[in-house]
Amino acid sequence: MQKIVLLGGRELPYELEYKSVKHINLRIRPDGTIHVSANRRHSMKSIEAVFTANADMILRSLDRAAELRKNAASITELSRSKEGRACELAVSGALRRFYPYFASACGGSMPEIRYRRMKSRWGSCTPSKKLLTFNTRLAYVPERCVEYVVVHEFCHFLVPNHSARFYQCVASVLPDWHARRDEIRKYEGIMT
Ligand SMILES: [Zn+2]
Repeated sequence: MQKIVLLGGRELPYELEYKSVKHINLRIRPDGTIHVSANRRHSMKSIEAVFTANADMILRSLDRAAELRKNAASITELSRSKEGRACELAVSGALRRFYPYFASACGGSMPEIRYRRMKSRWGSCTPSKKLLTFNTRLAYVPERCVEYVVVHEFCHFLVPNHSARFYQCVASVLPDWHARRDEIRKYEGIMT
């Protein structure tokens, strides 16, 4: 049955299903709908207490789901060629800004840059071919996240793995890289 709970000043609809479960289970589906299963002995008050106890997590998950839906909607609006151009524009700006830090690691000239759709990563670096490849889906992520990807791939010219030394290299150029990486993770769902 459909119910509504007031949380953080927001009215949240949720689906309540009674079944023979021991505990109250609250789940947020990828589409942003909330599903609660409980048994008939659980009072409405105890169900709402589960919402209150997890308010931060619930509101954050809902915002995230809404953001992903918005991204998915805007993706259908950009054609593939436009996506490629928008990505190239965003990435080439970041490449120019951060290249000075890596010029000597790159042997004094800009590596070859390629753009293509990738399913599982935002970028890749092949030092032996002096090649950087970027996912055209970067067209949809904020500039600060594009910068993180560019610096990350540049750093692979100095450190080929993801060791502590590698992240020291990233941090020396982007001290707030942690927040940027956490932010771009929210966009992983748009890689296809
Ligand atoms: Zn890497």
